[in-house]
Amino acid sequence: MASPGPTDRTFAAPGSPNATRLLMLGSGELGKEVVIEAQRLGVEVIAVDRYPTAPAMQVAHRSHVIDMTDAKAVRAIVEEEDPALIVPEIEAIATDELSRLEEEGYNVIPTARATKLTMDREGIRRFVAEELGVRTSPYAFADSLETYKAAVEEVGLPCVVKPTMSSSGKGQSIVESPEEVDEAWRVAQEGTRADTGRIIVEGFVPFDYEITLLTVRHAGGTSFCPPIGHQQEDGDYRTSWQPMPMNEEALAEAQEMAAKVTDGLGGYGIFGVEFFVMGDEVFFSELSPRPHDTGLVTLTSQNMSEFELHVRAILGLPIPEIELVSPGASAVILSEVASNAPGFTGVADALAQPGTLVRLFGKPKAYPDRRMGVVVAKGENVEDARDLAEASAGKVQVIDDA
Ligand code: AMP
Repeated sequence: MASPGPTDRTFAAPGSPNATRLLMLGSGELGKEVVIEAQRLGVEVIAVDRYPTAPAMQVAHRSHVIDMTDAKAVRAIVEEEDPALIVPEIEAIATDELSRLEEEGYNVIPTARATKLTMDREGIRRFVAEELGVRTSPYAFADSLETYKAAVEEVGLPCVVKPTMSSSGKGQSIVESPEEVDEAWRVAQEGTRADTGRIIVEGFVPFDYEITLLTVRHAGGTSFCPPIGHQQEDGDYRTSWQPMPMNEEALAEAQEMAAKVTDGLGGYGIFGVEFFVMGDEVFFSELSPRPHDTGLVTLTSQNMSEFELHVRAILGLPIPEIELVSPGASAVILSEVASNAPGFTGVADALAQPGTLVRLFGKPKAYPDRRMGVVVAKGENVEDARDLAEASAGKVQVIDDA
């Protein structure tokens, strides 16, 4: 079931026997943009998630609702749909089953191993730091209160405590003093995505700024997007901007590290490689083997968005150049309310200024702090773009529209 390469792919119409079928495992807002780009090239798209009418399902040809951590359910869908491309969009997937499917000839993007290593913080951290020797903050793992205390001792204060199975800042805390050690353990145990109880203790990096370096592995080699700066709150991104001004040495080092890590993982596709920059020292933080939320800014700032780049790369198509068309920024629209019938006010106001775009993800439910949309804006420079994106996003309110 090897995916046909760019030369023998005929871009046959969706639904026809030779159509290129793409199975999206995960149907969030980033998957939705990937699906739209795939649709533009006539790819037949099947979207999967654990609840119906998820964002990417709304723009796919058809969809399935399954628990993606259930190996049998994942296999059943793959066998039914027989896709040329299996494209994971989230971390919580039955990755061992993806490895078996890959061995049987299915094309898992970028590779089954990359999805397995990035499924939790431990796999990717050990791979990057211990196998590849790339610089990270000091770290230690633990799965009991006792080993956790030893890990804090080893890493030293201040440190950052995170469940190994978590994202978006859930269960994460900064420990500055010995009195905060116990509380951080409790928070991590409550915020974990899976009941492994395992946590990572990382040395706190007092960085000057942090970046996402979007790195694309494609048939023609490896290409980098201009660096994206971002601001996080409670472990989740609020605004991002591109290009992040950086000194040349730091950027060259980040590119070298990103190339090493993505070469190590292999496969085709885009990777969001996150770094902390302190002076001219660069520390690898983490990585997504798929489009990155902070990369939503590329919907307006680049000639090809990260979603188009991902689709081109996985189809084996050329990426002759990645160009910054304008400084840009993105600002998220978060819900303050819980609702089973969310609506939005202020969209017209947000779009009144030249250079802004609004993307509403179409999520069927809202809850406090859930990301429901994004505003992306162009500007003369990143400061202007950021001011505009933030001001426009501030005009959009999520309401209970029941
Ligand atoms: P993560 O979920 O690991 O991406 O962490 C979310 C955010 O928390 C990062 O983007 C940083 O802003 C902050 N953070 C995480 N780990 C560290 C660290 N070791 N040192 C300093 N800040 C950190």
